[in-house]
Amino acid sequence: MSAAVVSDAIVVGGGIMGAATAFFLRKRGLRVTLLERGLVGQQASGVNFGNVRRQGRFLPQVPLANRSRAVWGRLNELLGEDAEFITPGHIRVAFRPEDVARLEQHVADVRTYGLELEMISGNALRARFPFLAGNILAGSFSPLDGHANPRLAAPAFGRAARREGALVVENAEVLAVEKPGVDFVVETRGAGTYRAPLVMISTGAWANTLASRFGEKVPLVAKGPQMGVTEPMAYRIDPVIGVASEVAEEGIYLRQVKRGNIVYGGGWRGPALADAQRAYVDPMNTLRQFPMLRRVVPGIGALRIIRTWSGIEGYLPDDIPVIGPSGKVAGLFYAFGFCGHGFQLGPGVGETMAELMATGETVTPLAPFAISRFDKG
Ligand SMILES: Cc1cc2nc3c(=O)[nH]c(=O)nc-3n(C[C@H](O)[C@H](O)[C@H](O)COP(=O)(O)OP(=O)(O)OC[C@H]3O[C@@H](n4cnc5c(N)ncnc54)[C@H](O)[C@@H]3O)c2cc1C
Repeated sequence: MSAAVVSDAIVVGGGIMGAATAFFLRKRGLRVTLLERGLVGQQASGVNFGNVRRQGRFLPQVPLANRSRAVWGRLNELLGEDAEFITPGHIRVAFRPEDVARLEQHVADVRTYGLELEMISGNALRARFPFLAGNILAGSFSPLDGHANPRLAAPAFGRAARREGALVVENAEVLAVEKPGVDFVVETRGAGTYRAPLVMISTGAWANTLASRFGEKVPLVAKGPQMGVTEPMAYRIDPVIGVASEVAEEGIYLRQVKRGNIVYGGGWRGPALADAQRAYVDPMNTLRQFPMLRRVVPGIGALRIIRTWSGIEGYLPDDIPVIGPSGKVAGLFYAFGFCGHGFQLGPGVGETMAELMATGETVTPLAPFAISRFDKG
């Protein structure tokens, strides 16, 4: 039997959370091993919509989103690769007075968390964004947000981690994490045994498999956000657009890529089978999405859809992820269950978790994301 590979920290799961954490742990000088079942960035992190959005979040999450936005701004320089992050802004639009009121409240609330949004209504809105429908009452605009290419970001973190000296092992499914003594021992399916005093579990929708071993199983459910892309039209939609509504079906989002295609998602989620590693687009959802897209930007009504897809995302009942130390085991950390909004957070989670694991504390408040909030069921 070959000896275990020893490092200072093991990160299990190479989505954007794991890959970014491995990168930042190396930046802090720790010997790091990243173990990924398939390829880095292959699951949710690689197939998402690409929204790098801070507004519309749970308020205590805004400091983390701000930290992440700062990392996004330095991504090319940090990684030496381009993940196509651009900042044309992000706008949330409202059709009903009660939704406008909620937007106005949010604009006021996030200001205290250091996020400046601009409320724009009526003719001023249409003068600035002439492609928006005439019956949109108002929108809150976040000028420094935008989008990136999900196919590039997590793999770029993985490659950069490796260049910095991390051991990045793909096709290494972790079967068990045990803590027989000071160190954790991590067993993989045919890709070796690893040992370290620090472990982070960032296995997305599959996190319960390993967390339950430590008595920290949480009510995590896999679902598939429904995505699509249209044929191209002349480029005119700069910002990412989302709809602020309490009605699930209305909550769609879209962006136009420079070559003209409209990428869209939102509304009802579809089935995701975590064990089979498959997520599906329910064709009825595509039929529901299209009128909702036309409702926001009438000009896209005549376009043909050229592709639809989904991905497997982990959701918790409060729609808030688990980020931080285990409530039960010293040296064990979690970052999973990002409930459809983790792509933006990924780089910031990486920087924050590396800080926490390396120093025992972090300047970014993580208490609202503690796994112990599920202790009482
Ligand atoms: C279709 C879709 C659209 C989305 N749109 C957006 C968006 O626009 N903006 C946004 O901010 N967020 C969006 N999200 C959410 C975002 O993609 C996720 O929150 C984020 O990517 C989660 O990253 P992760 O690293 O936690 O998980 P994942 O990317 O799922 O990575 C987890 C990794 O763990 C690996 N793994 C699992 N089990 C094991 C094991 N036993 N051993 C080793 N490895 C294991 C998996 O193979 C996987 O690579 C979207 C999600 C989907 C699915």
